[in-house]
Amino acid sequence: MTTTATTATSGTAAPPPRRSFWAWCLESEEPTDAERADLARKLSERAGTAITARPVPDLADAELRPPRTAVPDSLAAWCATDTYERAFHAYGAHFTDRARAFDLDFPNPPDVVAHPRDEAELAATLDWCASAGHVAIPYGGGSSVVWGVNPPEADTVVTIALDRLDQVLEIDDTSRAARIQAGVFGPHLEDQLRPHGFTLRHFPQSFRFSTLGGWIVTRSGGHYATNHTHIDDFVESVRMLTPKGWWESRRLPGSGAGPSPDRLVLGSEGTLGIVSEAWMRIQARPSFRATAGIVFDTWPAGYEAVRQLAQAKLWPANLRILDPAEAGRAAGLDGTQALVIVSFESAELTQRHNIAQAVEIARACGGRVEDDEVRVSDGGGEPTGRGGAVGAWRDAFIGVGNGVETSLGLVADTFETSITWDRWPEFDAVVRERVSHALRQVFGHEPMLSCRFTHVYTDGPAPYYTWSGMGRQGSETQMWSEVKHAASEAIADAGGTITHHHAVGRMHRPQYDRQRPELFAEALRAAKGALDPGGILNPGVLIDP
Ligand SMILES: Cc1cc2nc3c(=O)[nH]c(=O)nc-3n(C[C@H](O)[C@H](O)[C@H](O)COP(=O)(O)OP(=O)(O)OC[C@H]3O[C@@H](n4cnc5c(N)ncnc54)[C@H](O)[C@@H]3O)c2cc1C
Repeated sequence: MTTTATTATSGTAAPPPRRSFWAWCLESEEPTDAERADLARKLSERAGTAITARPVPDLADAELRPPRTAVPDSLAAWCATDTYERAFHAYGAHFTDRARAFDLDFPNPPDVVAHPRDEAELAATLDWCASAGHVAIPYGGGSSVVWGVNPPEADTVVTIALDRLDQVLEIDDTSRAARIQAGVFGPHLEDQLRPHGFTLRHFPQSFRFSTLGGWIVTRSGGHYATNHTHIDDFVESVRMLTPKGWWESRRLPGSGAGPSPDRLVLGSEGTLGIVSEAWMRIQARPSFRATAGIVFDTWPAGYEAVRQLAQAKLWPANLRILDPAEAGRAAGLDGTQALVIVSFESAELTQRHNIAQAVEIARACGGRVEDDEVRVSDGGGEPTGRGGAVGAWRDAFIGVGNGVETSLGLVADTFETSITWDRWPEFDAVVRERVSHALRQVFGHEPMLSCRFTHVYTDGPAPYYTWSGMGRQGSETQMWSEVKHAASEAIADAGGTITHHHAVGRMHRPQYDRQRPELFAEALRAAKGALDPGGILNPGVLIDP
């Protein structure tokens, strides 16, 4: 085995530029008052009512409850209690989080925010929490959209941010695996693998502001739509600190030795321990690529093609469909046609034959694509997903909005799930009917509701719905909550999962509690009791203390 040690010093990198406490961007990229005023004018026209853009908030005006505990001297070097740290870590990245932060509404911030620089400091911090009975909330990038990092009601809350543990420590290029610290953000992780010719190839839409540890414990889904796309597939072993001590699994390519320890960590959402590092399967960077965007006259014809493509076992790297509303809004089509995007990639082999076979299947289902619109890159590494409808959609996907619309009356959200193919058409009809009804009730106008598949399996799709409505300024969160309730209940009643990759957090608890077998809940509570007897880790997420 060839093991290459890289820069093995943790926590020494210069701190990244500060992130905005309310917008999805750095402070230096925050939407300006002028941009917000411009958008307010446009939204006023759309809503037929005056919308006022309040100035972007100044954190100096925020009034936070004083910290309810003092940091021991021995931890002071990596613990903060200033307003920015406590306000920033009070919320994740959901629409409701951003709205509250914009309003400087911080009734329950963490009392202390720790940024341990190595495992010894991490252990000292968790020891302090355990002995003092403080709630401890692991925090990666804070991109949670399910209230996973929001402090619960408790006497004292310490948020433990992993961002200083951000190094790729070792690369085993024989087995193609790397030992990586949990707090590394997506771009910094790829920057450290690139010089070695490798990639983790895990690209959630939140890539810029989310971390390896967060991906592992939320079972994140990357933007590749089939085959290896979940972080689960890349985990070789995990090292996690619990209040009862360290938990580390053996590095193995596979194992049939009983239930997998890693499987208990995956999806644990900070309730069982704090992941400090993991051995991850890495890959050679692809240089052969092929992509096609195929247009269908109807949504059912398009998703039938997707089903056949998934079941043909060609294993495209990407296979997704945008319904006519989404293809119109995000890919520039006319609003009546669905768009299927299929792409292949490899570090070693031409993908010409695969894309030709995929196009043949899609055409047999009624899809249209000209031969010269099928793009192939044979070993040069050129991207094939740029330009045209496919490129337009890609740009919209990557260019996640920064939240300029916050507190301007626009209410928007997404929800995602999965369902087997046999139940899919009826499921889609039920969800659309119930959510559209709720949107009409709440907003009083025809709803904007669209769907795409983010992931596709041989036995079913993972549909991802996006909705928005023009609400009343100041009532956005209440309006959101009514639609969210209708969407979650529709999914639960129609037999889907309450989340395919966004996690459970505190938001999805009611439906998650109904979805899981009760005996499993009991077993999970027992595992929690064994690892975290004081119930200090992220209480309220997944299970009750
Ligand atoms: C714009 C946007 C796009 C998104 N796109 C995607 C997507 O494409 N795919 C997807 O799967 N999700 C997506 N999400 C959701 C979110 O990015 C994921 O859930 C992500 O995995 C969270 O990572 P994080 O590092 O930000 O974790 P955080 O938000 O900081 O934390 C999430 C949960 O993990 C726990 N946690 C974090 N780090 C650790 C650790 N080291 N040890 C133990 N517990 C920990 C926290 O306590 C919390 O419960 C998106 C979110 C946004 C805002």
